[in-house]
Amino acid sequence: MVQAERLYLVLLGVPGAGKGTQASLLEDALAIPQISTGDLFRYNLKNQTELGVLAKSYMDRGDLVPDEVTIRMVEERLQREDCAKGAIFDGFPRNLAQAVALDQLTAVHGGIRRVLLISLEDDEAMRRITGRRVCRTCGAVYHVDFNPPKVEGVCDLDGGELYQRDDDKPETVRNRLFVYYKQTAPLVGYYFAKGLLTEVDGSQPIETVQAALLAALRDAAAVGG
Ligand code: ADP
Ligand code: AMP
Ligand code: ZN
Repeated sequence: MVQAERLYLVLLGVPGAGKGTQASLLEDALAIPQISTGDLFRYNLKNQTELGVLAKSYMDRGDLVPDEVTIRMVEERLQREDCAKGAIFDGFPRNLAQAVALDQLTAVHGGIRRVLLISLEDDEAMRRITGRRVCRTCGAVYHVDFNPPKVEGVCDLDGGELYQRDDDKPETVRNRLFVYYKQTAPLVGYYFAKGLLTEVDGSQPIETVQAALLAALRDAAAVGG
């Protein structure tokens, strides 16, 4: 049975490129939810679920959590009602097996509409990651210099405490970059070959990157307006 098309978007880019920041803004602009596998794992970790406990050892090393559990988690998330018009994937897929699984999961609704690659040099990504702070309550993302909260250490949205992720230490970040180039970067070719890829310069200010992403989606006729 043919079902209504949905707006499924993928954000690609090195750790620190700004995927989460941009996905949150796109969520507001397009009224479809952000699905961040990293956030889902951190939520499970905070709540000490079986999934969270399993994911922790991989996350602490900066390695990928096994595909089977990651894909099942995304499949379940996609069944929730808020995904009825589509979703913005941030941090997923991270390897070829996940990309193929995502194609299958989204096929009945027209598949992935567009893939946005946010490009950034490694040294800049490192600067962004080491200054990143995250709200313990809502997961909002800040940067001590580039996107500071109004009050140091406190979330603008809900007053939650801001913390530094354990895996944002330089040793772990180096492995995460390595894992990106080895496992995730091949997806750039995968989506390019499907004619789905648009690259945006991620070194610009947050608002400029957001405008470029929305313009890219309009140019590709992925969204109206
Ligand atoms: P990712 O999800 O790709 O790992 P984030 O969205 O968490 O990246 O961004 C990493 C860090 O860089 C955060 O501290 C964020 O506030 C900051 N940041 C994001 N986009 C920009 C930008 N365009 N310019 C400067 N800093 C940025
Ligand atoms: P992120 O928040 O995207 O930086 O992800 C943090 C960590 O969560 C990664 O280093 C991985 O250990 C794990 N993770 C997030 N997304 C995935 C995924 N799609 N596949 C496997 N592991 C993931
Ligand atoms: Zn918050």
